[in-house]
Amino acid sequence: MRRFVVLMALLCVCDGVQFGQLCSGNPTNTRRGSDPKGQGHYGARRNGRTHQGLDIVCSDGSVVYAPFDVTLQGSLIVYNDPQQEKAAINKGINLRGEGLCFKLFYVQPDQTSGTVRKGQRIGVMLPMQSVYPGITSHVHVQMCDRTDPTKYF
Ligand code: ZN
Repeated sequence: MRRFVVLMALLCVCDGVQFGQLCSGNPTNTRRGSDPKGQGHYGARRNGRTHQGLDIVCSDGSVVYAPFDVTLQGSLIVYNDPQQEKAAINKGINLRGEGLCFKLFYVQPDQTSGTVRKGQRIGVMLPMQSVYPGITSHVHVQMCDRTDPTKYF
């Protein structure tokens, strides 16, 4: 019984966690729907691959905020294959907070270590239109274990 109680406590750490505003100009974390370049939901098709994150609308140059108190875990490179034409948006940041480990793609981080309080600035949305003209510019939210982040929005 004691083991059961401890297990339940661990399982419930992330229960009810919701992302606060991620991007200036999008106070309700509106998701990318369908646009000429694809769809923003988790599991969407991507040229024979599967979209492993959730896209939140964010205009180029917008300020990106910490969705809750977070610890910065270093910057990341979005595209393994270094394609020069995508260099302008090939950056993001690793984060932890509220028991979650996740990544934000297409963000130029202000800093890559330390802590940031909910609602404080963590960086700037990179110029996605310069790489994908006509797309709905967005921050890509991806859990470290690649599970579906939708329930946190
Ligand atoms: Zn995405």
